[in-house]
Amino acid sequence: TLLHAQDFDFFYFAQQWNPASCDSKIKCCYPTNGKPAEDFGIHGLWPNYFNGSFPKSCNKNVRYDETQISDLISSMQKNWPTLSCPSNNGTRFWSHEWKKHGTCSLSMLDIHSYFQAALALKEKVNLLQILKNEGIQPNGGFYNLEAIKKAIEKGIGHTIGVECNIDLNGNSQLYEVYVCVDKSGSNIIDCPIIPETKICNEIVEFAVFGSRNILDEG
Ligand code: 5GP
Ligand code: 5GP
Repeated sequence: TLLHAQDFDFFYFAQQWNPASCDSKIKCCYPTNGKPAEDFGIHGLWPNYFNGSFPKSCNKNVRYDETQISDLISSMQKNWPTLSCPSNNGTRFWSHEWKKHGTCSLSMLDIHSYFQAALALKEKVNLLQILKNEGIQPNGGFYNLEAIKKAIEKGIGHTIGVECNIDLNGNSQLYEVYVCVDKSGSNIIDCPIIPETKICNEIVEFAVFGSRNILDEG
């Protein structure tokens, strides 16, 4: 079959703060293999254009074939946990990310290299350690957004983007961090353009896992 080897300019490597996926108005469910670490988890590796637009769902005939990434699944369970409901093993999240985004970077990465690249980036960019090194601890406390951004930018040596959501008490909280990566999927770069994200307040919460918001542990 003919591949639409669509071009693109760079990737956003999006990581979500796992507790903030739960401590929000959207209900969350732990994956069937257990509660995720109090850490960032991968959301996705998203091909993008320099002007901020992006291709999506590029090759409907390139299926998500988990047998091709069976060696990566245990690492994905740990580093790419799904927090959506109903509780499931993650396949739905990974398959969604592959179909929507992964099929748009086939000019650079096949399915195995795509998931492997995301996992390698997660290992390379230890956001939690970077923040802790600067005294920014996930303890339910509040921090200046600028301090969080500066800490991460100092830690990785490149500009980034940050997205927030709203917790059950109405507080703006750190939700996602976007690191930019070149087309190869392996080198971090300054973000050519910062995504239009849900705006953070000047002061944001760095949430911990609660329990009252877990509506269905499956
Ligand atoms: P949200 O509205 O939560 O920021 O984004 C919803 C979804 O749209 C994301 O999970 C992602 O699939 C896609 N998306 C949002 N912004 C961008 C972007 O700047 N680049 C790409 N490639 N996808 C995006
Ligand atoms: P996006 O389109 O925003 O890249 O991907 C989000 C989609 O993946 C949504 O349909 C959402 O229901 C599903 N999903 C499954 N697990 C998760 C998760 O842990 N976080 C996010 N943001 N989306 C998830």
